[in-house]
Amino acid sequence: LIRIRDVHKSYGAVNVLNGISIDVAKGEVLVLCGPSGCGKSTLLRCINGLETIRSGSIAVDGRQVEGATPDLLQQIRLSTGFVFQNFNLFPHMTTIENITIAPTKIKGLSKREANEEARRLLEQVGMADKAQSYPFELSGGQRQRVAIARALAMKPSLMLFDEPTSALDPEMREEVLHVIRRVHQEHNMTMIVVTHEIGFAKSVASRAMLLDKGQIVEEAPAREFFEHPVEERTRKFLRAIM
Ligand code: ATP
Ligand code: MG
Repeated sequence: LIRIRDVHKSYGAVNVLNGISIDVAKGEVLVLCGPSGCGKSTLLRCINGLETIRSGSIAVDGRQVEGATPDLLQQIRLSTGFVFQNFNLFPHMTTIENITIAPTKIKGLSKREANEEARRLLEQVGMADKAQSYPFELSGGQRQRVAIARALAMKPSLMLFDEPTSALDPEMREEVLHVIRRVHQEHNMTMIVVTHEIGFAKSVASRAMLLDKGQIVEEAPAREFFEHPVEERTRKFLRAIM
């Protein structure tokens, strides 16, 4: 579903990604970890065309991201759900409005269709009773679950999560991780998740990789990666986050 080949990306003179190649198959969950500033967010942003790359190639669902026309880029973004660390809900809209705005405005769904779908998704993320609440009335974990429902409402073929729980208290983390796990199971959703939640990574991810200084240090099946890392760099990183 995703094919990344020898991607280089720099901001001015600073090289952020130095030759990244990754394949992600349909239904696979890839966990990405690495120290602050190693390029995790940048990589996710390159995958859905929010950033342009210097060289290499990225294809999502057979569509080439680099050099894509604005129309194609829009299509790629619409088929990619992006969930951020800080929720990014529209503050002046209720839960249900946050979820239905894109399907009605961009996909042309009727308000009724969009509402029905939103209710179904809210049920799935355990937020059915908060449809009329505003973001400021919700806890961080609840906001993140709404953000996930909002991304799913566009029926993406791929979900990218950028540290979805790092802004949350421990008990809220669990509820969000649980929802992500369910989304994967129920939709067989392909996912790339930037996270340092090892328990979650071991139970959900098919593969994990460590990124450092814009390069892949180690990549392995998730359990192997966390329990028997081969590279000294990975061991050191895992010791630091455990
Ligand atoms: P964190 O774990 O802290 O979120 P990260 O791995 O997501 O880190 P990135 O946000 O991808 O790291 O940033 C990688 C590098 O690129 C950093 O050195 C950062 O300062 C730099 N960078 C990121 N965005 C920009 C930008 N818009 N302009 C210039 N430099 C940037
Ligand atoms: Mg980041």
